Amino acid sequence: MGTRRTALVTGGAAGIGAGIALGFAEAGYSVAILDVDGEGCRATAARLPSPARVLAIEGDVSKNSDAARAVEETFRHFGALDVLVNNAGIELNGTVSELAVEEWDRQIAVNLRGAYLMSRYAIPRMKSGSAIVNISSVHAFVSWSGCAAYDATKSGLLGLTRAMALDHGRDGIRVNAICPGYIDTPLMDRWLSSFSNREEALRQVIACHPVGRIGTPRDIAQAALFLASDSASFISGTSLVVDGAMTAAGH
Ligand code: NAD
Repeated sequence: MGTRRTALVTGGAAGIGAGIALGFAEAGYSVAILDVDGEGCRATAARLPSPARVLAIEGDVSKNSDAARAVEETFRHFGALDVLVNNAGIELNGTVSELAVEEWDRQIAVNLRGAYLMSRYAIPRMKSGSAIVNISSVHAFVSWSGCAAYDATKSGLLGLTRAMALDHGRDGIRVNAICPGYIDTPLMDRWLSSFSNREEALRQVIACHPVGRIGTPRDIAQAALFLASDSASFISGTSLVVDGAMTAAGH
């Protein structure tokens, strides 16, 4: 890599986002982390290698002013923005009849509007050779009961990925999505805790993955690094499923 590249990772305080921030920092990137959890954000930033090349930003991706500020702070601090990883996401469960209208709106606001807002402000700052990686989910392809709003956002992210790849390809900006299977994160931990028999639920989840384990944030970081790198210079407008063959097995 010639000059140092800069990545902005949303939802980087915990889980997959923290793994991605670590992966990019280890690969020599300067890294900005945006998260609503300011304390967690600063703690994660302090744990990364070369903390001097890390910027922690407290903010909400679904807020227009926060998204604009995060991009500007990153650009001002590092003088460039080469990679945006739209990772911040929440999962609010329920069927369409169970979900409150406010829950539906919040789900869309964080997972979909957040990616739109961040991209809206990042793209004008990006030079040719830059990349956006949207963290979607296998929920873009298969559904589980009670995931109506979540699945709508993750499918929507694939449409947004295609549209942005088309619209900004000539500017030299590539846009791709990653669709993770079950990944060991606080989000998954909260979901497992909703079962009366947590251990049995985990056993069943692992059994859905032909490779014999669930994923780690590092698995997703490696995929994001690849999609952001020049090795993927002809890859744009598509998605990479990283799920240990779970969807291949029909789960
Ligand atoms: P997590 O809950 O463990 O961590 C998410 C992080 O995002 C937290 O630090 C949280 O504070 C932050 N965040 C939440 N709302 C935010 C907002 N409005 N603005 C800024 N930051 C915000 O979740 P995770 O499991 O690491 O998931 C990360 C992404 O990966 C999400 O988009 C999720 O849908 C997706 N995903 C997760 C899994 C999985 O099994 N864990 C599978 C597929 C996709």
